[in-house]
Amino acid sequence: MRTDKGEVRASTTLYGIRGTIMKNLFEEAKGFKPELVEWRRYIHKNAETHTNLETTTAYVSSCLKAMGYEPIEICKSGILAVAGGKKPGKTFLIRGDMDALPVEEQTGLDFSSGTGNMHACGHDLHTAMMLGAARLLKTHEDEIEGTVKLMFQPAEETLAGAKMMIEAGILEKPTVDAAMMIHVFSGLPIASGTVVFYGAGAVSAASDWFLINIKGKGGHGAMPNTTIDPVNTAAHIHIALGEINSREIDPAATAVVTVGEIHGGTTGNIIPDTAFLRGTIRTFDNDIREFIKKRVVEISKGIGTTFRCEVEVELSNACPSVVNDRELTESVYKYTAEMLGPQAVLDMAAATGKTQVMSGSEDFAFLSERVPSLMIIMAASVEKNGEVFPQHHPRVLFDENTLPAGAAVYANSALEWLKMHK
Ligand SMILES: [Zn+2]
Ligand SMILES: [Zn+2]
Repeated sequence: MRTDKGEVRASTTLYGIRGTIMKNLFEEAKGFKPELVEWRRYIHKNAETHTNLETTTAYVSSCLKAMGYEPIEICKSGILAVAGGKKPGKTFLIRGDMDALPVEEQTGLDFSSGTGNMHACGHDLHTAMMLGAARLLKTHEDEIEGTVKLMFQPAEETLAGAKMMIEAGILEKPTVDAAMMIHVFSGLPIASGTVVFYGAGAVSAASDWFLINIKGKGGHGAMPNTTIDPVNTAAHIHIALGEINSREIDPAATAVVTVGEIHGGTTGNIIPDTAFLRGTIRTFDNDIREFIKKRVVEISKGIGTTFRCEVEVELSNACPSVVNDRELTESVYKYTAEMLGPQAVLDMAAATGKTQVMSGSEDFAFLSERVPSLMIIMAASVEKNGEVFPQHHPRVLFDENTLPAGAAVYANSALEWLKMHK
């Protein structure tokens, strides 16, 4: 601790744009940057995946308890902490994910992961930012006009954690009125630390997986006439699925249909009994999403019938798009620009004339289906020897200097939104 809380608060009080005395949470968070870095590095070193976050959750819980919280594990590795609730008002949720990827780290950092997993998506930074937000909110708890729920989520990479926490009741008692998340990003051609707003509407892709099982009748490769060939049928289905995008979707719309796996047979002179294809659909519009899902099934089955095979299609791993709420986007943009300064925020939608989208999926989408939500991006690239690696790469580096701003944006958005909506 560099200074006692009283000194930090006194020295960082500013007059806000609305004329009220406003605490500059960013200045406060900068005051405990060493702790933010320490939290981040511990989590980085102990990277865990999916819902198996024993070390991570024990650490997060103990940090929260030391700040005066009573964190609860509401589902496996999913932690809820609550701030405020002393004054009546609405409920704002902030979310940080905590899971890593099954990737062997190659960064050479002295706090590299020792678990065989790696925080290659930057969720270690999100967890540290959320702990920083927890600390800021505790310091300012008496000023919270309502309740803030802090959602420490497992299993984002497997698109399972948000759903689990919703099923465990995170959006109820009290009912959540708005939710936001931050994701750090490596590789954006934008100065590190810039907070990027993608605009209102769908900003991440909806994702669906399909498995197409084809059943024919195997036999000798020299006598195909005595067989029903599932490999041939698989090839026709693969080609035909490509036509959905090129012939049936509006050229101005964006959609992806990818077959990433195709398998059938064991050797060159045997026609097998079965074959399968596996792939993914990425869309940004619900009608297009439903249309493609329907057409994948119809086309696959139709070709099966044509070539006398039985075809079954299984759709799974569904995740909708994150949809940014307009009012929430505009409000948080304003609070963030006021706190960090206009140079630190970028309205991509205004800069490019359209809502920006990313073709990746993000399971915060399950919250955005239910409550007004906002996903913001924080540029956090680190260039080393002239190279910048992307998310999920075993050599990707994220900028720790973004931690104070991230913590402050989380806490400030919650405080300001609740104040504005009391
Ligand atoms: Zn990721
Ligand atoms: Zn991620």
